[in-house]
Formats: sequence, C-alpha cells, structure tokens
Amino acid sequence: MADDDCLFCRIAAGELPAEKLDEDEHTLSFMDINPWTRGHALVIPKEHARNIHDISDESLGRVMSAAKRLATRVRDNLGADGINLLNSAEPAAWQTVFHFHVHVIPRYEDDPLRLPGQPMQPEEGELAEVAAELRG
Ligand code: 5GP
Ligand code: ZN
Repeated sequence: MADDDCLFCRIAAGELPAEKLDEDEHTLSFMDINPWTRGHALVIPKEHARNIHDISDESLGRVMSAAKRLATRVRDNLGADGINLLNSAEPAAWQTVFHFHVHVIPRYEDDPLRLPGQPMQPEEGELAEVAAELRG
C-alpha cells in the first residue's frame, strides 16, 4: 500500500524524480542522492514496508534478486573491485528512510569509505551465552 508521506513510495510512484537504473513490476533501483562511493544505488520494493521486520519474504526475495542484477552491472560496467550490500532497520542501526531499501555500494581498492565497525574480543563464554539467547 503506497504511503503518501513516504519518500520512496513517492519515488516508486513517479511523483518524485530519481535517477532510475532498473525497474520491474515489483522493484525499483535508483541512484542514492548522496553516494558513499561512485555508483552507490538503492533497491526498493514498490510495495511499502518499513524494514526487515515488516517486508514479506516474497518481496524481500524480489528485492535481493534485483540487488544481484545491479551488483553484476556494478562489477561489469563500473569496474568495481567489490560490493557492500547494506540494509538498516530503525534509527539505532542508522535507518533514516523508513521504506525498506538495500544499499548496493560499489567498492574500489583505493576508495576512502571506512565503516566504523570495530571487531570486539568477546569475554570467556560470551559467544555461547548470546547464542543460547538467540536460539531461544
Ligand atoms: P538509510 O540511512 O535509511 O539506510 O538510507 C537512506 C538513503 O537514502 C541515504 O543513503 C540517502 O542518501 C538516500 N536518500 C535520502 N533521500 C533521498 C532522495 O530523495 N532521493 C534519493 N535518490 N536518495 C535519497
Ligand atoms: Zn514507502
């Protein structure tokens, strides 16, 4: 269901402009307006979903297929050396647009992009403890 207040619903409906890359019945790919690297693009479902918790399995599968198509073009047409796929859910994870999207971020050997993640050294038994929580 399109949401009149949702930026990406409005892009999907053609009400707002975007530099489109690929489109099918259920998905749309377009350039990110503030790219992290050359060729940074977004893939969205046309049907509104807030994030990973909200999107149907079917829609998610279609978005990931479209992301794969785009990843191939990123490699073959832009000559990227690698690709990051990124998806964020909720502000704690940096989501700023609340319509599900997958970032397709071309990576180049010499690009300046640095993700802020710092691998941690877990305490003794910590991995097993959290794994037990995750298994439920
Ligand atoms: P998030 O932070 O939710 O993971 O990603 C939202 C992305 O949407 C950001 O990378 C931002 O640059 C991009 N974005 C925000 N507004 C627009 C817009 O109006 N048009 C396009 N093409 N991208 C946008
Ligand atoms: Zn939307």
